[in-house]
Amino acid sequence: MDPYTHVQMITASAPYYLDSKFAGVATVDLSLENLISFVKSKAREHDLGVIVRDANNQVITEHNFRVERDIYISQLNFGDFNWSLEVVNARRLVADEVFDIVMGVEYAIVPVMILCLMFGYYLINQYLIKPIAVIAKEVDDSRHSGSIDINYKSPDEIRYLIDSFNQKTVYLDQERMKAQASTKAKTAFLATLSHEIRTPMNGVLGTAQILLKTDLSVEQRKHLKTLYDSGDHMMSLLNEILDYSKIEQGHIELDSHPFPLNSIIGSMHSVYHTLCNEKGLKFSVYSEVDDERWYMGDKARLRQILFNLLNNAVKFTSQGTIEVFLSEEVRHSANTLTIRVRDTGIGISPEAQARIFKPFEQAESSTTRRFGGTGLGLAIVKEIASVMGGDIKLNSQEGIGSEFEVTVKLESCEPKQLDVHIERKLDYRGLKALIVEDNRTNTIIIDTFMKRKGFITYSVVNGEEALKAVATQSYDLILMDNHMPVMDGVEAIAGIRNMPGREKDTLIFGCTADVFKETRERMMGAGADFIVGKPIDERILDDALYQFANKLFQFTDGKRSNVTSIGS
Ligand code: ADP
Repeated sequence: MDPYTHVQMITASAPYYLDSKFAGVATVDLSLENLISFVKSKAREHDLGVIVRDANNQVITEHNFRVERDIYISQLNFGDFNWSLEVVNARRLVADEVFDIVMGVEYAIVPVMILCLMFGYYLINQYLIKPIAVIAKEVDDSRHSGSIDINYKSPDEIRYLIDSFNQKTVYLDQERMKAQASTKAKTAFLATLSHEIRTPMNGVLGTAQILLKTDLSVEQRKHLKTLYDSGDHMMSLLNEILDYSKIEQGHIELDSHPFPLNSIIGSMHSVYHTLCNEKGLKFSVYSEVDDERWYMGDKARLRQILFNLLNNAVKFTSQGTIEVFLSEEVRHSANTLTIRVRDTGIGISPEAQARIFKPFEQAESSTTRRFGGTGLGLAIVKEIASVMGGDIKLNSQEGIGSEFEVTVKLESCEPKQLDVHIERKLDYRGLKALIVEDNRTNTIIIDTFMKRKGFITYSVVNGEEALKAVATQSYDLILMDNHMPVMDGVEAIAGIRNMPGREKDTLIFGCTADVFKETRERMMGAGADFIVGKPIDERILDDALYQFANKLFQFTDGKRSNVTSIGS
C-alpha cells in the first residue's frame, strides 16, 4: 500500500551503478488496480476464469473462476515474489479438449491409414485374390476335362493349393473314367443278360402258349398254366430290373401317344377284379375324370405306376377293400392327374415310410420271405412320376392300411379314332416268309405263328445264310433276329439292302428280345422296316403287316383284295 497515495501497488526496484559505483535505486510502481482491471479485461475477452494469488496464497484478484469436474486448470507461478496465476477455460471441458486433440491427430493419421489400406489391398489382391480367382476360373473352365493348368511359380500356399487340386482332379478323372467304363460294362452286361434270359424265356412262354391252344387234359392245362404264369412272372421281374437299370442311368424316356384314360381303367378292372376276388377283397375304382378323357402321354408308364401300386396293395392286404381314386385338376397351369390307391392292408411303419421309395428297400427284412418282390417297384414308380412332372406321397398306419397318392402332369387331347384298336388281318396265304434265327425253339415258335397265319415258311440260322437265301429266291417277308453267330442281323439287313435286284426291297422285320433302344435303332438304321419285340405279340405283328401291306404284296399281286378289317 503506497503510504502517500494509499493505492495498492506492486513495486519493483533495483540498484543501479555508474562506473561500478552504486549510483542509486530505480523503482517502478505498478498500480494493483490497473493490473486487476487488465487481468479482468483479458479474462472477459477470452472468456476465461482467472485467479491471482500472492506468495501466501492470498487471493489478489479473481474473475469468473469456478472449479468444476473435468475442468482443466493451468497454473503459472511468476516473479521472485512467488505469485501465481490460475486460469480455467470457462467454456470447454477437458473431454472436449481431448476430443479436439484426438481429431487433430486423426486428421493427420487418416490419410496415412488409407494409404496403408490401399497398399495392403494391392498386396492381398496381387498375391491372394488374383491367384484364387484364376484357380476358380480354371476349375470352372476345366469342369469336363482333366487337370487345371495355372502359371503360378511361387512356392507358397497357393502353389500347394493348385498342386493338391491338380492331384485331386487327376485322381477324380481316373475314377470317373473307371466308373464310366464300369457303367458301360454294366449296360452291355444287362443287354446281353436280358437277351440271354429273354431268348430262352421267349421259348418257354411261346411253347407254353402254343401248347395251351392244343387239346389237353384239365390236369395238364393246370400245370401248363402254372408254367406259363411263372415264366411270365420271371419276365416281369427281369423287366423290372432292366427298367431300374435304365432309370439308374437316367435313360428313362417317355413315349407319348394319345390314349383314352378309360382303356387303363378297363384293364385295371379286368386284372384286379379277378385278383381281389380270389383273395376275398373288395375292389372299387372311383373316377372324377370325364369318361371320354383322352391324354397325350406315355400310357405304358402310367399303367406301370398304377399296376405297381395295385400289385402292392393286393399283396399286402388280406382283408377289406382296395380302392382307386382318379381326379384331375389344373395345378401351376398344368393339367394334373391324381391317382390314389388305398388299401386296408398291413400298413407301413413311420420308420419304413422314409425308406421304401429307395431301391431295394422293403419295410421289413422278412418281407421278401413272406411276400417276395425286389424292393424296386416304388423306386420305379417314384422315378416315373418325377419324369412325368409329378410326385408320390404316402399316408399309412400300421395295421390300418396305406394310401399312395401319385400326381402326374398329363395334357388332355382330342380323341383319336385311329387309335381305337382295329385288328386287321390280311390274307397271307401263299406268302413266303424267311425266318432268320439261330435259336431252334424260337424258330419253331415263330414258324408256328407264321404258318398259322397262312405263310409258307423257310428258315436259316444266321445272316450269311439269309443273304444266300435271298439271292436265290424272293421272299415276301424276312423276320430277322439280331444276335446270331457268323453274321448278325444288322449286317445281314444292310447286305440285303445293298443287293442289285428287286430283292433289296423285301419287307424286313427285325425281331429282337433286346429292350435297349440302341439295338432297335441300329436295325432300323441298317434298313429294317419295323422292329417286332420278342416274345412276338400277334396283334403288333398283324398291325405291322397291315401297315406295310404294299411292300408285303409287292411280289404277289392281287392278294390285297383279301384284306379284311376287324374291329375289336
Ligand atoms: P416290392 O413290392 O417288390 O418289395 P416295392 O418298392 O414295390 O417293392 O415296395 C417296397 C416295400 O414297401 C414293400 O416290400 C413293402 O414292405 C412296402 N409296401 C409297399 N406297398 C405297400 C402297401 N400297400 N402296404 C404295405 N406295405 C407296402
